[in-house]
Amino acid sequence: MAIWIYAEHKNGQLKKVTLELLSEGRKLAGQLNEELAAVLIGKDVAALAATLGEYGADKVYLAENDALENYTTDGYTNVLAALAKEQQPAAILLGCTVQGRDLAAQVAQRLGTGLCTDCTGLELADGRLVFTRPIYAGKAFVKAAVPEARPAMATVRPNVLGVTAPQAGRSAEVIKADAQPGDIRQVIKDIVCQISTRPELTEADIIVSGGRGMKGPENYKLLDELADVLGAAVGASRAAVDAGWVPQSMQVGQTGKTVSPVLYIACGISGAIQHLAGMSSSKCIVAINKDPEANIFKVADYGVVGDLFEVVPLLTAEFKKM
Ligand code: FAD
Repeated sequence: MAIWIYAEHKNGQLKKVTLELLSEGRKLAGQLNEELAAVLIGKDVAALAATLGEYGADKVYLAENDALENYTTDGYTNVLAALAKEQQPAAILLGCTVQGRDLAAQVAQRLGTGLCTDCTGLELADGRLVFTRPIYAGKAFVKAAVPEARPAMATVRPNVLGVTAPQAGRSAEVIKADAQPGDIRQVIKDIVCQISTRPELTEADIIVSGGRGMKGPENYKLLDELADVLGAAVGASRAAVDAGWVPQSMQVGQTGKTVSPVLYIACGISGAIQHLAGMSSSKCIVAINKDPEANIFKVADYGVVGDLFEVVPLLTAEFKKM
């Protein structure tokens, strides 16, 4: 009846959401008196098991195979679903990332169980896992329990749960799992277009985001400069993406990425419901907009009514002094 977390990693590093899931999973496993296991899939990833142990995993199921070097829906689903069928965990938790969403849906279907997506909280009630998730584009929250289905599956929004400090020297039992990816029908190559030292959008503590008010792609350098000073990621509204100013990977919102940074600075973004769906769980929202009636001010903690082409360079200059 263990609780499992899927250990997502990239470029030899565990994703922050993996550590967040371990921290929360550790608490739940302690309350249930069950073990916490991590499932680590890939090629040459065994070294990550030590970190998983330090962050709370009792066991690590290690599935290594050359064919699993890059994520594929078929390969990773085959491995995770087969392992879950064999071991029958009580719950499987994944990050609500591009990869986690894809994998969770496939595995849930394969196991014939339900899936609670984009959760922002996990708790125990009467010995059962209860997931909190936003509905109506973040306007309300529901608590969902999974009564019958085994395992209970959920994807959890990155940056919402905290990370508890690792315990140096704590180790997990590493169990070699069957790593047969089966037939892989589709391989999506991870194409790196540009090397960025910026944090990933979904994991960033600070995001500077620009919308149609940026007026054109050339003006995003203003946001880049501010982001560089703050160590922030740069995001965008769909209007900016649809205009071809920035890539879709930068889009925040209902049909883009869901983010929960400590600070979200929205520049020239009106605050359409579909944009708010992706960022309203940010801990502090700062809006810069020249229209005092803009909807974004309804969710903003701090608002600057003004021209972003004046305000953003001023902010950059002030932060540089700090
Ligand atoms: P606008 O609404 O045009 O707002 C631009 C803002 O910039 C205005 O408020 C204006 O006052 C301000 N401004 C202009 N110039 C300046 C200046 N110099 N200084 C300061 N402020 C200035 N949108 C998303 O963002 N993400 C999504 O995932 C998403 N998914 C969608 C899914 C569906 C099914 C649909 C129908 C829509 C979706 N949208 C999404 C689109 C959404 O409805 C809005 O059209 C979009 O968010 C608007 O982007 P914007 O705020 O940048 O542009």
